[in-house]
Amino acid sequence: NANRKFHPDDTVIELENHVKIGDGSMQIFAGPCSVESRDQICFIAKSVKESGATILRGGAFKPRTSPYAFQGLGGQGIDLLLEAKKETGLPIVTEIMNITQLPLFEEIDIIQIGARNMQNFELLKEMGRSGKPVLLKRGLANTLEEFLMSAEYIMASGNEKVILCERGIRTFETATRNTLDLSAVPLLKQMSHLPVIVDPSHATGLSKLVKPMAMAAVACGVDGLMIEVHNDPPHALSDGKQSLTPEAFRDVSACVRQLAPLAFHW
Ligand code: PEP
Ligand code: MN
Repeated sequence: NANRKFHPDDTVIELENHVKIGDGSMQIFAGPCSVESRDQICFIAKSVKESGATILRGGAFKPRTSPYAFQGLGGQGIDLLLEAKKETGLPIVTEIMNITQLPLFEEIDIIQIGARNMQNFELLKEMGRSGKPVLLKRGLANTLEEFLMSAEYIMASGNEKVILCERGIRTFETATRNTLDLSAVPLLKQMSHLPVIVDPSHATGLSKLVKPMAMAAVACGVDGLMIEVHNDPPHALSDGKQSLTPEAFRDVSACVRQLAPLAFHW
């Protein structure tokens, strides 16, 4: 059960290499929107690790709005992520879109359920049976109640290892890609015992806004951040506009680490 009433203690998720999510530490998930090549993912992995990232993100199966946009490298992308894991020791998070892909995720540390699949209930039940840590992203137009019910689907099927991710919601505002709902952070921490992270990259769609929103999220008491980083943002195959350069990420990561001890905690 995701409700704090029935489970007062914080859920702490421990990964293979002893990274803990939800224990009061700040975990930084960083990496490209899409895995594009071996050189790209290994270069970014080493760079973000040096700058303080603790988990590597990268999309292999991509939920793109247009069927003509880059759809990801699929199974090959998963293999490249595992090579980057071998080279850096960083645990991996990557998105699953269909349950038939699950056998490819055996060595993946955290399975991501993207915003567009937050209410794919059959997929959520399968995630429950998989027993793997799951990063559940809030749907584009879902309430916190609905978000927690989706977490409940995973937990009711036997898996308590769920991380909640606020990634911005649809509003009338068009200046940003989405509207970051920061009040969701303390509310989710109050309502549930699950770790909560924020993705300021998809929330804003604009690289210049990633640092201020990341710092605001830290002040609100998140357990982690998910940040898109690309070696050459203007030429990224997806989400270049919101991707940080490795240098910009180094600065954000350092500022986040400085601010973290001052954060509000529910
Ligand atoms: C992603 O993290 O790669 C992604 C597609 O995010 P979201 O599901 O939040 O849009
Ligand atoms: Mn992306």
